Amino acid sequence: MKTGINHLYVPGPTNVPEAVRQSMNVPMQDMRAPDYGDLTLELFTGIKKVLRTDKGNVMFFPGSGTGAWEAAITNTLNPGDKVLMARYGHFSTLWVEMAQRLDLDVEVIDIAWGAGVPVSEISRRLGRDADDEIKAVFVTHNETATGVTSDIASVRRALDENFHDALLFVDGVSSIGSLDFQMDEWEVDLVVAGSQKGLMLPAGLGILGVSEKALEAAKSSNMRRAYFDFDDMLQMNKNGYWPYTPPTQLFHGLRTSLNIIEAEGLENVIARHKRLAEGIRHAISAWGLELVAEHKSLYSDTVSAIRVPNYVDARDVLRIAYEDFNTSFGSGLGPLNGKVFRIGHLGDLNEGMCLTALTIAEMSLVRAGASIKLGAGVGAAQEWFLNSAHVNSSYTLAAE
Ligand SMILES: *Cc1c(COP(=O)(O)O)cnc(C)c1O
Repeated sequence: MKTGINHLYVPGPTNVPEAVRQSMNVPMQDMRAPDYGDLTLELFTGIKKVLRTDKGNVMFFPGSGTGAWEAAITNTLNPGDKVLMARYGHFSTLWVEMAQRLDLDVEVIDIAWGAGVPVSEISRRLGRDADDEIKAVFVTHNETATGVTSDIASVRRALDENFHDALLFVDGVSSIGSLDFQMDEWEVDLVVAGSQKGLMLPAGLGILGVSEKALEAAKSSNMRRAYFDFDDMLQMNKNGYWPYTPPTQLFHGLRTSLNIIEAEGLENVIARHKRLAEGIRHAISAWGLELVAEHKSLYSDTVSAIRVPNYVDARDVLRIAYEDFNTSFGSGLGPLNGKVFRIGHLGDLNEGMCLTALTIAEMSLVRAGASIKLGAGVGAAQEWFLNSAHVNSSYTLAAE
């Protein structure tokens, strides 16, 4: 056991605000009680605001983001359906693998890790598909492995310009609740989120936003599914109940985290993530290091994937941070292992926490052999935090 607190800077699970933790510490409840819906029904309304949808439906499946991926696919597609996916990081790769395991015919566009969604290539393939054989286009909004945020609106435009009817699937696990996301505006058909990232909760909820068009497609879907069936869920959810035992504690936590987001204001939450991420990026550039993201238009405001100098092993940086300084950073995933470490900067976060991450990253880099001047990155971030426009990041929760 170390003295002091653990510093958690992985891009999920994120730090859970004290108010959220406290709100989950309640006695067990009867999930069939007549007033159970008083707790749950408002959560649907709350999450719709975060997804920016009036028209869409939302569902919470016990599970994680990966479970919600599976629910999205198995409820709306058919075995053998052709789908179009781009592979540009660990999570988009896993999504391709899941689609293949579920017997979809996946047309994969392979691009560099560090690139964003290849809109013109997607558009070209949609344009060639005159018979509408492609049933869905899958996009990872924020590729957590590479720290790249892609432009979903442009994928919607590519579909529209080609008069293409494919469903638009979006993985929003590391963007929802932290980055701008517009389910209705971008006409997203299925969006997947998890509780343990921008929503500042423990893992355990797979969250889905589902358009009317996706529900229509669900009527003719004959994939095998049981636990993750939309119909069973929607039927019970109408009155605020679940087809099986729901994670009630997480619902209490979610109510508080939605209240926090509402009180701070979603726009302010997004602006705060941008400002904090800019501070982190100022430090990285002062170290003379580079991000995996290929271009500044792709920089993620929730996670930075940082390339270490080629004479340094990123695994040493991670080990030193953990063993010597009680701090977790994200590892380099897949081909980035040893070359990259990641700083997760999403959720319940402020300037001081970013500076802690940077000062420990700096020490760990130096101890791992990097020639970096101590204080260089921290100083650059301090400058930014002092001189950039402040974002109102305080909130007051209404008393219960
Ligand atoms: C974390 C993450 C996932 C996986 O979610 P789990 O909740 O761990 O199943 C999927 N996609 C992205 C982009 C992620 O960041």
